[in-house]
Amino acid sequence: MQTQDPSLLAVVGATLFDGTGAAPLADAVLVVRAGRVIAAGPRGRVAVPERVRTVDARGKWLVPGLIDLHVHLDEVLTPGAFPLFGVTAVRDVGSRLVTLQKLRARAAKGEPMPRLFWMGRNLDEGKPSWSGAVAVKGAGEVPARIAEMQDGQGVDGVKLYVSARAAVARAVIEEAHRRGLPVTGHLHDLTPGVAAQLGIDNLEHVFTLFSAQLSREAARRTTGTRRAFAGVATADLDSPAARRLIETLARHRVAITPTLSVSEMPYRGERHADAVYGGWADIPRGWRVHWKDAYWSFLQPLGWTPGDYQTAQRANAQFRRMVGRLEAAGVPVVAGTDAPAPWVLPGAGLIHELEMLVQAGLSCRSALLAATGRAAAVLRRTGEVGTLVLGARADFLLVDTDPLKDIRALKRLYAVYQSGQERDRLPVRRAFDRIQPPPPQKPAS
Ligand SMILES: [Zn+2]
Repeated sequence: MQTQDPSLLAVVGATLFDGTGAAPLADAVLVVRAGRVIAAGPRGRVAVPERVRTVDARGKWLVPGLIDLHVHLDEVLTPGAFPLFGVTAVRDVGSRLVTLQKLRARAAKGEPMPRLFWMGRNLDEGKPSWSGAVAVKGAGEVPARIAEMQDGQGVDGVKLYVSARAAVARAVIEEAHRRGLPVTGHLHDLTPGVAAQLGIDNLEHVFTLFSAQLSREAARRTTGTRRAFAGVATADLDSPAARRLIETLARHRVAITPTLSVSEMPYRGERHADAVYGGWADIPRGWRVHWKDAYWSFLQPLGWTPGDYQTAQRANAQFRRMVGRLEAAGVPVVAGTDAPAPWVLPGAGLIHELEMLVQAGLSCRSALLAATGRAAAVLRRTGEVGTLVLGARADFLLVDTDPLKDIRALKRLYAVYQSGQERDRLPVRRAFDRIQPPPPQKPAS
């Protein structure tokens, strides 16, 4: 008998959803060599090399590894936790430079973690809105700053931050695009419609789409965590302004990362989280303690009245309605969670985000694309991650039931592969349960 070639793998018999938007393919064969897909197609039409190790995947669904486009990494828990739940790539949208450097070094040594894409330090205007951000005084400083980020720090894109205004945003978008980098934004001082016209690729947090509708009076009256919800419930999604905004986002193909998770999980708290994760992704004890820490006060419902909870609940219903409108209008909706915000469990939180996107009106297929092929396009990594096409990284999942019928199928992971290697999830699970959450760092959201 010939010995097997350890660089080769064939997964045979599963129903393949390749993340490109193509119809699922029954009884498929996926062949991997040296961590990349070298063939995918119907059984009998794909040449399977000799000495290949074969995985019998009949009855399973084979989907690309999932991508969470909105996370903040730390050095202790978040790296290993993502692949445990099938998230094989993440986009960090704001962490300390030293954290990313250390994680990249650890990944290079083979430690299990998702592929790391990061947007560098948040780019602000005037003075930084938090310690992890950097600010430019004006558009003139932008080219040097982005050169430093790309050439010196190895960023995969740029994130504009809350105080950026039109001239700086225009300069950032032009310079980043000239260098092949995508630009996202979490913006307050610049309206989403103007950002779209300036050519931004992506906007974070569906609540920012309501900021223009919040009266100055209401904005002055509300502070802290209540602010993201103020005035949202009464916003009219059928108003000419709202329609114009949605139409502008669609015309400019601006992807929206709604991050429904961070709008709901922190204020609904521990009991809701137990209901969300119960039975499939238990929350480790250390994390329960961590999320009650005063460090997270900027997201906790401190001093909330019953009326505040009602306002938040109505606002969240509006956020979902808005996501439904975006989807119907052809705006690319993509998946991101803001993990590890309180009760947004790294990895598992993304599955719950996809569930919420389905509740908001996405089909299961569209929700799955939001975390695979469509997410990869936002990263400008089409063909590398998020799809199982020739030459792509062989990051994929086998699940027991059909996620196109019920997205919750993703909670029943049978196996996780990264670069064609099956992850042994048991040791990761044990480490995850034992972990002591990291000492608090400065916040970002
Ligand atoms: Zn965030």
